[in-house]
Amino acid sequence: MTSLDELPLRPELRGRSPYGAPQLPAKYRLNTNENPHPLPPELLADLGAALQRAALDLNRYPDRDALALRGDLAAYLSRGGGEPVAPEQVWAANGSNEVLQQILQAFGGAGRSALGFTPSYSMHPIIAAGTGTAWVDGHRRADFTIDPAAAAAQVREVAPDVVFVTSPNNPTGTAVALDTIATLYEATTGVLVVDEAYEEFARTGTPSALTLLPGRPRLIVSRTMSKAFGMAGLRLGYLAADPGVVDALQLVRLPYHLSSLTQAAARAALAHTDALLATVDAVKAQRDRIVAALPGLGLTSVPSDANFVLFGRFADAPAAWRALLDRGVLVRDVGLPGWLRVTAGTAEETDAFLTALGEVAADHR
Ligand code: PMP
Repeated sequence: MTSLDELPLRPELRGRSPYGAPQLPAKYRLNTNENPHPLPPELLADLGAALQRAALDLNRYPDRDALALRGDLAAYLSRGGGEPVAPEQVWAANGSNEVLQQILQAFGGAGRSALGFTPSYSMHPIIAAGTGTAWVDGHRRADFTIDPAAAAAQVREVAPDVVFVTSPNNPTGTAVALDTIATLYEATTGVLVVDEAYEEFARTGTPSALTLLPGRPRLIVSRTMSKAFGMAGLRLGYLAADPGVVDALQLVRLPYHLSSLTQAAARAALAHTDALLATVDAVKAQRDRIVAALPGLGLTSVPSDANFVLFGRFADAPAAWRALLDRGVLVRDVGLPGWLRVTAGTAEETDAFLTALGEVAADHR
């Protein structure tokens, strides 16, 4: 096989590894923040019918602008009250990763830069690299919160074209206060992307950045159906922003990027929003159960508004990760010294995780 060194690869991609959590065989896979609950049977029936209808037109290209789907997504985002989100403010793509890539293609690129507050979602710098956008690590406090004044000062100094704020943050679970987001918006002349992949799992009183959209044309809120909706296999991510941002993304999106099957399946799923989101409270209860159990094992966690918990501290996190895997529990080593991340899933998964952790904690603290 030809090695990458022999190929005329872009120099900035040399030596990089592809993103991806190890897909290891384990009884309990708590490493990719999926929703473990199966889809409700009534949705499965509707999905079959919707896909069959869409299949009749598969000789035709899909609706390039995904208008009906964007209308449904806008209706979902408007459920929380406040200023309604209009369909022309919404854009959708194959997973929020593609949404983020389109944002960087339009607002980043060669000679431009993006800044995100590390540790955060590791795909942000990878998508930056893929689009030729320079990456700058933003700072967090030791407890993983963002210091608004220091962050705004850094943003002013670096003057990035794109600023990422992940709230709730992956891998720490940390929610970012709306005041902080508003402060960062004022500090940047670029676009501010709030990645809200885990927003539906936030504890009560943690509002979405959607409420900040009116009057802020450079603010983008990105969401996904992969987590709370439990549809990671569907690949459907979306954003809400000023309609001008959506127009800008038309310049870089591939024509017909969202297949008619994806659009039909997403619409069928959104018609069952309540049934799908009914699992969110159960997942949050397991998250809170994990958090509550950790001190009894001599461990601690970072306050989490997501469907996962960053827990530690371990003398040697990779060794603790291995010991859990030996007991059939796959968690994520996100490369933060002393910490591991576990996805909150079913009660049975939490039982298995806490039992395994009970066996290994004392040896690895
Ligand atoms: N943003 C964050 C913060 C994530 O953790 C993830 C998935 N791990 C994504 C975006 C991408 O999700 P998807 O492409 O499945 O929508």
